[in-house]
Amino acid sequence: MRIGNLAGRLTLITDDGGVDVHRASDGIFDADPQAVYERWEEFTEWAATAKTDGATPFAREDLGAPAPVPRQVFGIGMNYKAHAEEAGSEVPEYPIVFTKYVSSFIGPTGDIVVAGDTVDWEVELVAIIGKRAYEVDADHAWEHVAGVTVGQDISDRTLQLRGVLPQLALGKSRPGFSPSGPWLVTPDEFNDPDDLELGCSINGEQMQLARTSDLIFPIPTLIADLSAILALLPGDVIYTGTPGGVGVGLKPPRFLAPGDVLVSTVEGVGQMRHHFVSA
Ligand code: ZN
Repeated sequence: MRIGNLAGRLTLITDDGGVDVHRASDGIFDADPQAVYERWEEFTEWAATAKTDGATPFAREDLGAPAPVPRQVFGIGMNYKAHAEEAGSEVPEYPIVFTKYVSSFIGPTGDIVVAGDTVDWEVELVAIIGKRAYEVDADHAWEHVAGVTVGQDISDRTLQLRGVLPQLALGKSRPGFSPSGPWLVTPDEFNDPDDLELGCSINGEQMQLARTSDLIFPIPTLIADLSAILALLPGDVIYTGTPGGVGVGLKPPRFLAPGDVLVSTVEGVGQMRHHFVSA
């Protein structure tokens, strides 16, 4: 199953278009895309038999983030060996965790202002929680995931290192720095949800290409580790980390510039497309 945030309304996505959930369910489910995660199990039961013959085509520009206002957002740093190496870091023993503030969330298309001359790309698999998770072990972790989507953890490299301690949350939370979409895909849609190809290109040139099977801490381990400490809540968003190939790791380094078009893809999910503009 795929669900999207179409112009702010929860929408079932089919090959023919979108089905408005509030209308198709006779009001049983709220139109608010964020609200559905509180009733995820009930919703998936309804959706399994929902009539989708009334699907109507839509414009991709009208899609927003599938979980637009989560209570908690987790970003994971240095979660692929190649990325840790290009960043000059050791391979971490525990997940490196930061947040991305919700005000930086946007959908799978649109313009992003290039703030400064060290704005970098980070394609990531994003997981959205569908069931509260506290002290959950890895074997049961996927039961707590509503689905996955494509994400970009856009990062201002200068700002994220400003001062005496890293400021990852600030460097990764300028307006538009947290795109996700185009929609959520439930884990059952994949042969193996822990092995998906992901990548991104700039102006048609491939910059990152890897598989999520290369994650140091895959989704089940992240959920086990995080939920050993705190409760993951329905609708929470986890940016799982970026593979090698970011701009700061290139020789010479390369950063995003006005006019660049960034296309981000996860196998079996879809594609996002963002245009970078000057302030
Ligand atoms: Zn990242």
